Amino acid sequence: MRYLPQLLLNNRAWAERQTGQDPDFFKRLCAIQKPDHLWIGCADSRVPANEIVGLPPGELFVHRNVGNIVRWDDQNCLAVLQYAVDVLQISHIIVCGHYRCGGIQAAFGPPTTDPLEGWIAHIRTIRQTHAGELAALPDEDARWQRLCELNVMEQVRILRGLPTVVQAWERGQQLAVHGWIYDLRNGLLRDLEVSINTALP
Ligand SMILES: [Zn+2]
Repeated sequence: MRYLPQLLLNNRAWAERQTGQDPDFFKRLCAIQKPDHLWIGCADSRVPANEIVGLPPGELFVHRNVGNIVRWDDQNCLAVLQYAVDVLQISHIIVCGHYRCGGIQAAFGPPTTDPLEGWIAHIRTIRQTHAGELAALPDEDARWQRLCELNVMEQVRILRGLPTVVQAWERGQQLAVHGWIYDLRNGLLRDLEVSINTALP
């Protein structure tokens, strides 16, 4: 018995479409992987990384988790980062959050159970750090959306201090870190203007 027959049929149709448009498509992808961007985004199903920036397979190296978090102790994220920067030699790291993020919303709620709570704890800390700014906003929704932005900025701040990034800058590698946010309501990305391409003094 085959599970998920529709998805497998979709896959077959997709592969046929690709080779129909470009007979060497898969042959070329097999030969080399040379993306220029690392995308660190939320696992949310409504934010499909490649699609929203219009990049085909092979052009975006992707890491996604709940709340697009970068942590010093997350071997998964650190390994993706190291491979992207040191081996693939990507030039841009994009941390992309999104408004109405459930992971961010959870940081306003009561404690849940592990492992989710252990993960959300990092966002709760960012919320505490910016408690004054958030409290001044008019309502819960405004606080939620602002924390989505603040979370992206914090991940950019962490990234620029990670050894993989600092060492790349020290050896003169071209590398920039960017913070973006995606709006589920209209499908548009916004640059939070926290880009950095050099180590701070
Ligand atoms: Zn999310």
